[in-house]
Amino acid sequence: MGDSRHNDELAAREFGTDAGAAGTSDAGSSVRARGDGVNDALLDASPDALLGIAPDGTISMANAAATRLFGVARDQLIGSDHRRLLKKGFRNEIVQIYRHLKERQEEPVPPREVYGVHSNGTEFAAEAAGALLESGNETQLLASIRSISHRKADTDLHEALSLLTATLESTADGILVISRDGKLSGLNEQFLKMWGIPPELVQGSEAAPVIRLVLEQVADPDAFLARIAEIDNDPASESHDVLDFKDGRTLERYSRPQRVGDRIAGRVWSFRDVTPRRLAQEQAQQAMTDLAAQAEQLRALAFRDPLTGLANRAVFNDGLAAALGAPRLKSVDVLLIDLDDFKEVNDILGHQAGDDMLVEVARRLRRCVPTADVVARLGGDEFVVLLTDCPDADDIAADIVRSLHVPVTISGTVLRPSLSMGLASMGHEEIGTNELLRHADIAMYAAKAAGKNRFIRFHPDMMTALVQRTDMLTGLQLAVARREISVAFQPIVSPRMGQVVQFEALARWNRDGERIPPSVFIPMAERSGLIGEIGAEVMARSLVRLAPWLSEDPSRSLAVNVSGVQLQEPDFAEGVLALAEASGVGAYQLVLEVTESVFFDPDNNLIKQLASLRETGARVSLDDFGTGYSSLGRLQDLPVDEVKIDKTFVSMVRTGRERLPILSSMINMAHSLGLRVTAEGVETAAQADYLTALECDSLQGYLFSLPVTGSRMELAIQQANEAIQALKGR
Ligand code: C2E
Ligand code: CA
Ligand code: CA
Repeated sequence: MGDSRHNDELAAREFGTDAGAAGTSDAGSSVRARGDGVNDALLDASPDALLGIAPDGTISMANAAATRLFGVARDQLIGSDHRRLLKKGFRNEIVQIYRHLKERQEEPVPPREVYGVHSNGTEFAAEAAGALLESGNETQLLASIRSISHRKADTDLHEALSLLTATLESTADGILVISRDGKLSGLNEQFLKMWGIPPELVQGSEAAPVIRLVLEQVADPDAFLARIAEIDNDPASESHDVLDFKDGRTLERYSRPQRVGDRIAGRVWSFRDVTPRRLAQEQAQQAMTDLAAQAEQLRALAFRDPLTGLANRAVFNDGLAAALGAPRLKSVDVLLIDLDDFKEVNDILGHQAGDDMLVEVARRLRRCVPTADVVARLGGDEFVVLLTDCPDADDIAADIVRSLHVPVTISGTVLRPSLSMGLASMGHEEIGTNELLRHADIAMYAAKAAGKNRFIRFHPDMMTALVQRTDMLTGLQLAVARREISVAFQPIVSPRMGQVVQFEALARWNRDGERIPPSVFIPMAERSGLIGEIGAEVMARSLVRLAPWLSEDPSRSLAVNVSGVQLQEPDFAEGVLALAEASGVGAYQLVLEVTESVFFDPDNNLIKQLASLRETGARVSLDDFGTGYSSLGRLQDLPVDEVKIDKTFVSMVRTGRERLPILSSMINMAHSLGLRVTAEGVETAAQADYLTALECDSLQGYLFSLPVTGSRMELAIQQANEAIQALKGR
């Protein structure tokens, strides 16, 4: 601004008037008026505005083009200051031409750009040039002014175009313009990059090679072509869709007509790579799905036993309540299952083996009852199956018992899982949820009592049995308190020495004249804790009874059964030694019979008790050898002095001529470890001979004598000796 004012002031000085106050002045020196030979017609024929300008800046002459260009009549132009015709800031431009011409006459003056002002106020761009014109004693300027607004428009267009091109090239979108006749009329770099089109391919205007390359890349070329054809049929349409590439990319495709005025000249396609967006969306989707799955898992966990994947107790209870409440069901069966001797698997083979066993049992169960309403694990080794409208529940129960008993290898040991199952059913009668489950429970106990590995259907009589069981426990408590538990003695003979060398003390309970077998009251005593008192009673009575017989020969001994529960008492060993001392029997004449489960006590308390007894000279015998879960190979790790081969192995001997490698290897192994071997349950001479031939150290069984009361001990010895003589005579 300051600059332009400065220039205007300079111009004013040169032309001798004040530019700011440019007004009309005397037109006496007008070129035209002086008639200096310039042809008016020639001037008016010029398309450019021509002005004669005196040194003071007044216009002395104007042609027709000038009146047109400025919208001012000729007579008004003449005599007025030319600077009024120029936009402020450009008013010195013509002065500059004048000055330039005067100072450096030999140099051509390049046209100067000015802005003119039309009488209607509009401004326009123009180019001004000039030549000096000698007129009398003064030098005037003949200025030619040409509007260049058309050229300006071209520049604007050019600018707009370059802006557009720059925009096109800077956008991330790929853009392609195809004319109506199928020629390439425009595209950007990004388009080429996106589609991997070499630039030479688009040198010509043929679209076909480009289309071919495009078709090679889209996942579904047919659909692509169909879409193009569809759009072609409707040139005015706009479209937006998504294109999948073979390489996994996804492009968004927009298309709209290219309009020139009202005419549709072609079609603009723009492509946007939305692969990252799609991947992000997919990831988000996946995250949602994962979350939903996790929620589902958590939900399932609330209803599922995590170890076996079976339903849990809550699900079973709901299922049973629903079944019992359903009016149209013909029958509801509950199969309550408890594994036999599962505790031993856990104790002996470890918890992992126990878990493996439970998982295997669950798997077999599910396979047996694919149509069951619920198969659940109630906890521990207890399972339950709920069946509704099932016509053959007994068959299914039998099938479960059978298929569970198939051997399975767990932790390298072959096991035969077995179970006791109680089956309780509802027909038409009303019955509560708890009651049905209780019935199944009672039947399950009946199955255990009946020897395990079986199922038993609930019968109302069992309620009486249950009552009897409670009654039995009360009776046992009473019997122990009244010291009614007696002891029977069974002789054990040495075939080599030909005489009785040991007695085993066996607890007896005579309840009001009825003999209750130890297999019934001993487990009951173990569960109730009464076994401690019973064991002490048996020990005390037998020591007193056998003391005289034992004192006759130091090689004689007394065997007593000791249950693991007893060994858990910290002062068990002390008690035994006190009793032995009180009766004058040396500890070395005592044999403690234990089953192998006592050796798998995690705290080793039981083993410590046995160890301290062994230090005093007492011996430990492994009872029921061969029936436990531990392999024979573990025998060497057990702190025992003897083994008692279980009667199931002895009963395998029938004729005495069979080959029984299991028996011989059991005896050989024990001997090789320095252990004495007793065989129990010897009922026949063939069995006695067979075992003697295998060098079994001692024999026990009905062949020699039944267990007898203390008063009949002498008789038992006599009977045993006779049996030994009979064997020798064979
Ligand atoms: P066990 O220690 O294996 O005792 C041997 C069992 O076999 C006894 O049964 C005995 O009467 C029986 N038996 C003896 N010879 C023969 C035979 O030739 N053939 C057959 N078939 N059986 C024979 P019992 O007296 O019924 O005792 C059963 C189990 O009760 C015992 O098995 C023992 O585990 C347990 N028991 C008995 N008394 C006591 C005790 O005082 N304390 C503890 N903790 N358990 C005891
Ligand atoms: Ca025994
Ligand atoms: Ca035994």
